Amino acid sequence: MLRTIIDFRQDGQGDWVAVLDCGHRQHVRHRPPFIARPWVEDAAGREAHLGTRLDCPLCDRMEWPDALAAYARTPEFDQDTVPRGLVSSHTTKTGVWARIHVLEGRMLYHVEAPVDRRMRLEAPATGIVVPEVSHHVEPQGPVRFFVEFFGLARD
Ligand SMILES: [Zn+2]
Repeated sequence: MLRTIIDFRQDGQGDWVAVLDCGHRQHVRHRPPFIARPWVEDAAGREAHLGTRLDCPLCDRMEWPDALAAYARTPEFDQDTVPRGLVSSHTTKTGVWARIHVLEGRMLYHVEAPVDRRMRLEAPATGIVVPEVSHHVEPQGPVRFFVEFFGLARD
């Protein structure tokens, strides 16, 4: 899915890497004649590309980024106390990842878009919530779980 470039860094070889608002990083090399990105070589060119979007295949694969920090968690819920907001379609905000920790029982974790995926989380299990991707959960019988939220770590 498309993510916004929020910064640029250089790797150990001096190649440019775009930092995306999802927390993933992606090389943006200038390698003529194969990859023509002359703008990445100068500061003004990079500056002009802040806020533009890149496709992030790591988000499509629901891969957990390296640099995340936990900042909040919900109380423990069960099949009776699960908030209505979690069982109907919702999303987390830009850059907010979450882990659904199922401690007991099982539930269905339904990711609705961009790709429809239904995962059965059976304790002990963890479901990964990708920023801005609509999803909901459906308890299947008795269940105990909580959700932990993560944001981009500052470095
Ligand atoms: Zn990503």
